[in-house]
Amino acid sequence: MADIVLDKVTKKYPDGSLAVSEVSIEIADGEFVILVGPSGCGKSTTLNMIAGLEDISSGELRIGGTRVNEKAPKDRDIAMVFQSYALYPHMTVRDNIAFPLTLAKLSKSEIAAKVDEASRILDLGQYLDRKPANLSGGQRQRVAMGRAIVRDPKAFLMDEPLSNLDAKLRVQMRTEISRLQQRLGTTTVYVTHDQTEAMTLGDRVVVLRGGHVQQIGSPQELYANP
Ligand code: ADP
Ligand code: ADP
Repeated sequence: MADIVLDKVTKKYPDGSLAVSEVSIEIADGEFVILVGPSGCGKSTTLNMIAGLEDISSGELRIGGTRVNEKAPKDRDIAMVFQSYALYPHMTVRDNIAFPLTLAKLSKSEIAAKVDEASRILDLGQYLDRKPANLSGGQRQRVAMGRAIVRDPKAFLMDEPLSNLDAKLRVQMRTEISRLQQRLGTTTVYVTHDQTEAMTLGDRVVVLRGGHVQQIGSPQELYANP
């Protein structure tokens, strides 16, 4: 069953600009889908509509078979990772990762166990007492991913998560994200303007242009029919 379905989803901003126009995509459970295309083609708007951070003007969005157009972000059971990491600077790594669990009012022991597991998966064990300012870019990105995975969300949404990293680290983190997604098997929608990331990271690539879907296919299919 498709896990995330966009059915002729359209976004018209109040100023009249048509950012996304009748975009239809069916994303299978556990699939890793990349949204790629030049700046301004509608990638972030599409991702933000899936997250519930932007209203949908027309069309329908379903997650796990349920229409979610009107659901608040917190009721969609998805986790988002941003380019800017959006970590809380005054909190330690441990508290940043634990934050969604604290909000969800889990017990202290449950929180400790989940933070422990996430920090092991992401190799953050030795940094748990540091604050974000004292971490490298790659470590910060891992903390942001830790905060996303602790809640076992139904899907991950990632908006250019690697674009603040230098080239070498980008390649390394690409491999790590790929491994993490395979290990957890969580449906992932990943936005990038980087062709290499698009062709190496995803099961399927959606090429957007001017708010429309230009092409959808596996990286192999898109290589064969560029
Ligand atoms: P991308 O992520 O591919 O760079 P965006 O989804 O950010 O593209 O933007 C798609 C289009 O919508 C662009 O033309 C952009 O200028 C426009 N847009 C984005 N946000 C707004 C907004 N808040 N108000 C009006 N237009 C917007
Ligand atoms: P939401 O509104 O997404 O349900 P919260 O209101 O609890 O969740 O805030 C979490 C969001 O706050 C994060 O997604 C992040 O974008 C943003 N955020 C993270 N760190 C900071 C910070 N130091 N200052 C302000 N906002 C932050």
